[in-house]
Amino acid sequence: MVINIDKIPKEGLSVSRDFEFLSVDLVEEDTAFLSPAHAECVVSKAGDEIWIKGRLTARLSFICSRCLSPFEFPVDSSFDLVYLPEELGLMKEELEKDDLGQAFYQDNQIDLREIILEQLNLTFPMKPLCSEDCEGICAVCGKVRRNGDCGCQVKGEDPRLGKLKNFVREKN
Ligand SMILES: [Zn+2]
Ligand SMILES: [Zn+2]
Repeated sequence: MVINIDKIPKEGLSVSRDFEFLSVDLVEEDTAFLSPAHAECVVSKAGDEIWIKGRLTARLSFICSRCLSPFEFPVDSSFDLVYLPEELGLMKEELEKDDLGQAFYQDNQIDLREIILEQLNLTFPMKPLCSEDCEGICAVCGKVRRNGDCGCQVKGEDPRLGKLKNFVREKN
């Protein structure tokens, strides 16, 4: 959805629609959409600046990085962005090279679809977890711990080690 800057009305352009993305567009692998991304936003113009303010919702399925089970990841995020014409960016680049917070548009147009996709990708966690205290899988049999005790003897939980610890504690 490409928006021509010149066609943005004075009162701003209200957008409320679904955006269909493919899983391969996402930064996170093994991700599936349970519902399309939906964005409600207002695109407005203030001189050369383009302001995009709104909200993004979606329901995705992620794979937990600990237990490798799929889980639902709801997205509900607000954004408030400012875009400047690229010519300005090129000038600025010479002045302050590490200003990463600034975004720019080219050719008098803005691709809202790209922006929504970027915002969506920004909501993803570095390491997806089905829950903060996910105990992962058993290192011996590979069973998901959450689904019950498999009865395996896992290293580190060796009863002999417990005794040794007690022994050390008594000695001190
Ligand atoms: Zn998990
Ligand atoms: Zn096990």
